[in-house]
Amino acid sequence: MSNDSPPVRNQFFDTRIEFLKGVGAQKAALLNQELGIFTFGDLIQHYPYRHEDRTIFHRISDITEQMPAAQIRGRLREWSITGEGHKKRLIAYFTDGTGILELVWFQSIAWFEKNLRPNTEYIVYGKPVAFGSRWSITHPEIDLITAENAQGGYFQPVYSLTEKLRRKFVDSKAISKMVKNLLEISRAHIHETLPANLVQKYRMVSKADAVWNFHLPQSQAWLHQAQRRLKFEELFYNQFRLLKNKLLHKTEFPGLVFNNTALVKEFYANHLPFNLTGSQVKVLQEIHDDLKKGKQMNRLLHGDVGSGKTIVAFITMLFALDNNAQACLMAPTEILADQHYQGLKKFADSLGINIGKLTGSTKKKERDIIHKELLDGSMQIIVGTHALIEDIVQFQNLGLCIIDEQHRFGVAQRSKLWAKNARINPHILVMTATPIPRTLAMTLYGDLDISAITELPAGRKPIKTVHRYDAHRLSVFGFLKEEIAKGRQIYMVYPLIEESEKMDLKDLMDGFESVSRAFPDVPLSILHGKMKSKDKDFEMQRFVRAETKIMVATTVIEVGVNVPNASVMVIENAERFGLSQLHQLRGRVGRGAEQSYCILMTDYKISKDTRLRIETMCRTNDGFEIAEVDLQLRGPGDITGTQQSGLMDLLIANLAQDGEILKVARQSVEAILNSDPDLDQTENLPIKVHLSKIKKEQTNWSRIG
Ligand code: ADP
Ligand code: MG
Repeated sequence: MSNDSPPVRNQFFDTRIEFLKGVGAQKAALLNQELGIFTFGDLIQHYPYRHEDRTIFHRISDITEQMPAAQIRGRLREWSITGEGHKKRLIAYFTDGTGILELVWFQSIAWFEKNLRPNTEYIVYGKPVAFGSRWSITHPEIDLITAENAQGGYFQPVYSLTEKLRRKFVDSKAISKMVKNLLEISRAHIHETLPANLVQKYRMVSKADAVWNFHLPQSQAWLHQAQRRLKFEELFYNQFRLLKNKLLHKTEFPGLVFNNTALVKEFYANHLPFNLTGSQVKVLQEIHDDLKKGKQMNRLLHGDVGSGKTIVAFITMLFALDNNAQACLMAPTEILADQHYQGLKKFADSLGINIGKLTGSTKKKERDIIHKELLDGSMQIIVGTHALIEDIVQFQNLGLCIIDEQHRFGVAQRSKLWAKNARINPHILVMTATPIPRTLAMTLYGDLDISAITELPAGRKPIKTVHRYDAHRLSVFGFLKEEIAKGRQIYMVYPLIEESEKMDLKDLMDGFESVSRAFPDVPLSILHGKMKSKDKDFEMQRFVRAETKIMVATTVIEVGVNVPNASVMVIENAERFGLSQLHQLRGRVGRGAEQSYCILMTDYKISKDTRLRIETMCRTNDGFEIAEVDLQLRGPGDITGTQQSGLMDLLIANLAQDGEILKVARQSVEAILNSDPDLDQTENLPIKVHLSKIKKEQTNWSRIG
C-alpha cells in the first residue's frame, strides 16, 4: 500500500436498502421513514440496545414466577376462542411433555386462527404468568421449528422500533433477519478502522467480528468484546476530531499578541478590591501565557459558583485593552448580563474605561450609539446577551471574547462571535460555573485548554445544607425570622418548568401569599420570568440594595446573581430540581463572611433518586463530586447543554460508564498526534481512510440539511 493514496472507498455500504434480500420497496420505505435507514451502512449501524438470551430451552415444569422470560420448545395441541367484543381471546394449549402452557391472544385473532397448525412443533417465548394452576403467556412470540432455531443457542437482538413498524410486522426478529442477510454479504467489505498495533495492544476484536457480534453475538463474552471494541472506536474518533482541532488551532491559527500591560499594572497597584486567591493568580498566568504566544487562545475557565471568575474576566479584558483591542462578554440571560455589567463597570470606571451593555431590551437610540462606538473603537468593553452576535454589531478591533455559561450557547453562536474580527480571530475564553465530570469535559470541551479555579476566596464558611419536610414549615419560618433579625436576606425559590408553567406560577403566587402572611412586617420581592424586564430589574435592584429582605422567585435567579448579604436559600419542591440546578441555586448564598444555609423543602414522600440527590447536597459542597453523582443518575444525555453541543453524538459509548475506555482512547489519540500528526505512517492509514469516509458522510448530511 502506498502512503499517499488511500484506497478508494468501497461503495458497498452506500447501496440502497431496498436491494437487500428480504427488504423490497415497501419495507424500504418504512425503514426510511421510521428509522432513517436508507443504505446498507445505515442498517449495519442500527445497533441493538439489548439482547434477549435465547441460548437455552426451559421446561414447562421448571417455570417460575421470577423468570423474566421463558423459551420453550413443544407442540401446539388445540385452541378455542372465548368471549365477545374486546374480551374476545384465543387460547391455545401448548405442551413439551412436562406440563401445559396456555398461549393467549387478544389481537390478530383471525390471523392466528387461520395460520396456527395443530400438532406441530413450535418455539414460544414470553413472560410466563401463573393463571390458577396453569402457566400462561400473553402474546408470546411463536415460531415454527426450523433447522436454524431448533438448537437455541443464540441471543436475540432487540432494536429500537416504532409503533408503525410493529403494526407492519417489522419487529426485532424481522430486523435481525435483514441484518443477518446483510452481514452474510458484508464480510469482505468491512475494513479495519483502527491501526493494527492499537487493536493488538488493547486486545480488541477486529472490526468485522465486532460488528457481527454486536448484532448477533455468539456468546455473552463475544457481545462484551464487540461492544468494548466499538465503544473504543467511537470515542477514539470523537477524541481524534477534538484533539486534531485543538492542534490545528495551536499550530495554524494566528492570534493577536498582547504584550503591553500598563492598565493591568495600574489596576493591580491602585484598584484591586481584594487580594487574589492563589488559584486566580495561577489561572491569570495561564491566560496571559496564551495571550503572548501569537496563537489564538481557546481556553475554558472552570470554577465553582463564587470562586471569583468575574475579576479574572476583567483582568483578561485589560490585557486586550492594553494592546489596542476591544473585549466583549456574552451571557445567556439579561439578568446575568446586567450583573456582569454592574460588576465590571465599577472596575472599569476606576480606570476611565468606556464600557457598554447591549441586550434585547436596549433602546434603539442607545443601541445606535453603541454600534457606532464599537465600530470607531471608542467603546472598549461591551457586555451583553446574544444581541452581541447580530450582524449589525461590528467592532473596530475585537481582540477577546469571553463567553459566560457557555453550555447555554450553541457552537454556531460561538463561531459567529469569532467572525467579528475579519483580520484575525479574537481570543476566546469560555467561563462555566457548572462543574463538569472529567469524562464529560473531555468530550464537551475536548478541543479547549482548561483552567480551573479550585479554591474559594478566604474567609468563606461552607454552606450548611439541610433537608426539611413541608410539615416543618413553621420552624423553618422561625429560623428565617432570626436570620432577618440579624440583618440577613433570604431567597425562596420555586420550580418553574415549561410544561406546567401555569401551575408553577400559581405555586409561586401561593407561596408569596403565605410568606406575606407569615412575615407581615418584612418587605418582600418577587421575581419570575413572566415579568417585564423593567419590573424584574426594579425588584432585583431593591433586593440588591437590601430594601427587601426576602426574594421569592423562580429559577430566573439561578445563574450569576450576586448578593453577598443573602445568607439563606430555601428551595421549595426540591424534588423537582436536578442536582446541578440545586447546586447552582445554593451557590447564590455563602458569598459573604457570614454562615450561610440552604434548606431543601420536600413532601414526606420522595423517590429513591430524589433522596440520593438531597443526601448528596447535604453531604458536600464540592461541585465536581455533585456533578459526578448527577452524571450517574441522569446519564450524559440529560446533562444541561450536552444536547445542543453537537459533540455528543455518541451512539454506543455511554460517558457515565465508559470513562475508562475514553481515557485510553484519548491517550491513544494523543500519542498518534504526537508522533504522526499528518497520518503519514502506513500503520495509521486506517485512520486516514476512515476519517475521509466520516467527512464524506458529513458532507452528504449537510446537503440534506
Ligand atoms: P463566580 O465565579 O461565581 O462568577 P464572582 O466572580 O461573582 O464568582 O465572585 C463571587 C464573590 O466573591 C464576589 O462578591 C467577588 O467580589 C468576591 N471575590 C472574588 N474573588 C475574591 C477574592 N480573591 N477575595 C475576596 N473576595 C473575592
Ligand atoms: Mg459569575
